[in-house]
Amino acid sequence: MGENGTMRGIYVHVPFCVRKCGYCDFYSVVDGEEARERFCGLLLQELEILLRSYPGEANVPADTVYFGGGTPSVLGPERLCRLLAGIRSRLPVAEGAEVTLEANPGTIRGEDFFRLREEGFTRVSLGVQSFLPATLEALGRIHSVDDVHAALENARKARFPSVGIDLIFGNPGQEETDWEADIDCAAAIHPDHLSAYALSPEPGTPIHGQIERGEISVPSDDAAARMYETARRALASAGYRHYEISNFAMPGMECRHNGKYWRREGYLGLGPSAHGLLFPGESAPLGMRTENPPSLPEYARRLDEGRLSWVEVEARSGEDAWKEFLIFGLRLEEGVSLAEGEKRYGPQPRNLLEAVDRLVASGSLVRDRERLRMPEAFWFVSNEALRRLA
Ligand code: SF4
Repeated sequence: MGENGTMRGIYVHVPFCVRKCGYCDFYSVVDGEEARERFCGLLLQELEILLRSYPGEANVPADTVYFGGGTPSVLGPERLCRLLAGIRSRLPVAEGAEVTLEANPGTIRGEDFFRLREEGFTRVSLGVQSFLPATLEALGRIHSVDDVHAALENARKARFPSVGIDLIFGNPGQEETDWEADIDCAAAIHPDHLSAYALSPEPGTPIHGQIERGEISVPSDDAAARMYETARRALASAGYRHYEISNFAMPGMECRHNGKYWRREGYLGLGPSAHGLLFPGESAPLGMRTENPPSLPEYARRLDEGRLSWVEVEARSGEDAWKEFLIFGLRLEEGVSLAEGEKRYGPQPRNLLEAVDRLVASGSLVRDRERLRMPEAFWFVSNEALRRLA
């Protein structure tokens, strides 16, 4: 077992997309088949070097594997199955593990779902973003609304235990009624899991540039806050539990893998730009953060030299660990257990205790015996409160 008797997760960053969307700054490239094939070899090479450097890691079972990106589905089912089998042959993956694939509805065919399901994928997360063609176009997405319906139907036919979708609100030119229509469409197709993110065009992306130059406009902060409330209300009445600031699930369908980030449990991060949290024992008892370079050539160069691709490795102090525990854990509806924090990391540092007291006094956090949580009214502006703990 890993830290605190929990099993760990494995995150695989697949750094390919068919085309870059106008708002995105995740690391991905549009390289073709040759690069995709080479990446699969590199990823397993990375895992082998990691296990040679930290042999104890080979004994920690994983109960989640998550293929994110980028657009993992562009690898195609054969490569994805090969990667999963390669991971399983090098590390123990528990029976009943949650195995997620992020998929772009425009890059996955009906039979692909059956092949992936056969190999042990259990969960598919579709990057839908909107059900309105004009919004998809404004975001620079490659898929159509028909692709979304076909992907959903095929995932269900292939008997995926969990099918989720991602939506974005606060999009260029989006009216509040457009978002209401998106939420109605989402509720009508009954995904098991739904993530709703506010658009945040990163500096350097085309949409950010267009907003800066006044060529397009996005809804005001007040309108985006109302859109968030619309989603909360409509999805609650459709039976979803709003279990994390941006995530909704039917009961029991919460994402187990992302839960590891929020609860500060261990996970390996493989692939360019992937981050990890390892608990390698005495050398870093409170955890060690790892970070791969956001560059496929640099990642390949380091691995070809026979060394780990990490550009940053940082053992966490008690204060770091506490901050991470609070900042990620307070995103959850359940909040955090302060007794659990003390058990793991020792007494809470005084400066953090004072920052928490101030947030409790202002109403941004609520302390209920040994639990601390953020009231739902503050979730849309949670970053502001959480920044005070950083
Ligand atoms: S498909 Fe996803 S990762 Fe790729 S560019 Fe679009 S938003 Fe970014």
